[in-house]
Amino acid sequence: MDSSVAKSKRRLEGKVAIITGGASGIGAATAKLFLQHGAKVIIADIQDQLGISLSKSLAEHCPAAANNIHYTHCDVTSEPDVKSLVDFAVSKFGNLDIMYNNAGIVGDHERLPVQDSSTKDFKRIMDVNLLGAFLGAKHAARVMVPAKRGGVILFTTSMVTMVGGMATPAYGASKHAVVGIMRELCMELGEHGIRVNCIAPGTVATPMTMEQVKVDREVVEEFFKSKAVLKDTVVKEEDIAEAAVYLSSDEGKVVSGVNLVVDGGFSSVNTTYAKL
Ligand code: NAD
Repeated sequence: MDSSVAKSKRRLEGKVAIITGGASGIGAATAKLFLQHGAKVIIADIQDQLGISLSKSLAEHCPAAANNIHYTHCDVTSEPDVKSLVDFAVSKFGNLDIMYNNAGIVGDHERLPVQDSSTKDFKRIMDVNLLGAFLGAKHAARVMVPAKRGGVILFTTSMVTMVGGMATPAYGASKHAVVGIMRELCMELGEHGIRVNCIAPGTVATPMTMEQVKVDREVVEEFFKSKAVLKDTVVKEEDIAEAAVYLSSDEGKVVSGVNLVVDGGFSSVNTTYAKL
């Protein structure tokens, strides 16, 4: 793994990063790429077995960075868990540079019409996607502000923040609200040199997507490839990870307050006229 990013080209050398929802999908791909770029990474998730085996396999592939990857259990809806996670990062590595609030859920796997949807599901989605994002930012700021060394706070939103018709009202509302948190914190934390941004992925064939659509990864990817605006584009976990590296690195040092859409143009156009 070390050889895939030459030392001189590593963009996160020595940075300390937390990635919530890091055991699977986009978070797991980002953990791998952050590690390759020289970061010290704490994967936080509720899927303990998956998180432990991911951190073991990343350490095995990169013995030189074996001490730079850790798994910690953290339910992002629990403030004591999030507080402990951030405190663990600081006690383990001395500080926190990057807080990537990525954990998220879509809720009930069977999509119900709004009139049949449950309040319990709505609240659960808000707890994980919105409260979890807020708590991550809150506790990151708690240590980043007094440390006076700047920092980066990232959130995973979604292309549903750009266009409707692709998600439930609860999921869409939760991701729009995260953009709201990001914009407010861009102002408040900017004063302390802390950059705050979102990444809005197009559809990626992660376990979250597969559980919803119940078809193979190849079928999902073929479908989106056939609908691609940017010819043959299939958005992969690694594409989102690359955006996270950019926003976390010095290359993005003047970028703050952005909801960066990574979807090959999918949500920027209306294809109705293409059919006339
Ligand atoms: P995923 O299911 O592979 O990963 C999500 C991770 O979040 C899982 O490991 C899960 O265990 C974890 N998680 C769920 N609840 C948690 C909690 N309470 N505390 C801590 N961790 C928790 O899915 P993914 O596609 O990689 O999703 C990552 C993020 O990307 C989510 O915020 C999702 O909404 C967003 N997103 C995904 C897509 C897509 O098409 N896959 C598109 C746009 C946005």
